[in-house]
Amino acid sequence: MENPTKSQNPKFAFFNDKIIPISEAKVDIRTNALQYGTAVFEGIRCYWVQSEERNYVFRMRSHYERLLDSCRIMMINIRYSCEELCNITIELLKKENYREDSYIRPFAYNSGLDIGPKLIKNNQDFFIYTIPLGEYLNLSKPIKVCVSSWTRIPDNCIPPRAKISGSYVNAALQKTEALLNGYDEAITLSSDGQHVSEGSAMNLFMVKNGKIITPPVYNDILEGITMNTVIELAKNELDLEVQQRPVDRTELYTADELFFCGTGAQVSPIGSVDGRITGNGKMGEITKKIQNIYFKAVKNELKQYSHWCTEVK
Ligand code: PMP
Repeated sequence: MENPTKSQNPKFAFFNDKIIPISEAKVDIRTNALQYGTAVFEGIRCYWVQSEERNYVFRMRSHYERLLDSCRIMMINIRYSCEELCNITIELLKKENYREDSYIRPFAYNSGLDIGPKLIKNNQDFFIYTIPLGEYLNLSKPIKVCVSSWTRIPDNCIPPRAKISGSYVNAALQKTEALLNGYDEAITLSSDGQHVSEGSAMNLFMVKNGKIITPPVYNDILEGITMNTVIELAKNELDLEVQQRPVDRTELYTADELFFCGTGAQVSPIGSVDGRITGNGKMGEITKKIQNIYFKAVKNELKQYSHWCTEVK
């Protein structure tokens, strides 16, 4: 992840129920979540709007609702309500006082020290830290993507709808394979290998004949908040038809436009898949429109979506 040299390092973390210096937020090497990946997390962005000299957290409630759902699946009793989690996040960001875009990482985990992977009879803890964060994927130059030889994980193996830390081994394998083979990112197929699922840590959209199409939840995707944002903006503001339906691998080769979206990725154009150029290889017109309106929404420039933006104050 890009971390420009001018960025300040985070100074604080919320850890064991209070905000403390981040250098003091340490876990035991025996921690169950470190050993077995028994943790859930979120990734949330906060946007610095220079003209207003203000920070806005984007869709914070939706992220914490998803965190609480992930906790239910993983039997983690987080002890905070959605409201409390939002308030703690704002307090932490106020203390950091970033004057650039940043990223928030809440993490709920099994903190027990016993040997053995299990979700019950374990201590559980929670922390949040933040970091300055610019672009995660290129936003202007379309990236080179391959279809991964690793498939996505099914719900009856590691539920992809929860953001479970252990499941990111799957993402790491995909992304590493892509990088080693000279690509920027990977697209994975669903666990049965039959349909397109998503990117290593982002959802995928295809544009064909003016419609925008994205894989459905039953193709093993994480139900992305950015994906939902893109769907809302495309339908309501750009008057585009949106379809959520299974997508075949070869549809990627004949798509007019392709883009990734996610909290980290934002809206990132794809220039080729498996060596097949997407459209004319440049960022497509619809992708450009979606990217423009997305950045207006996250910076609280669209009053009809201001409920998505929480000011840090
Ligand atoms: N899929 C995966 C596997 C992810 O890790 C992410 C990032 N959270 C996404 C999709 C995009 O989700 P969101 O838009 O909610 O960040």
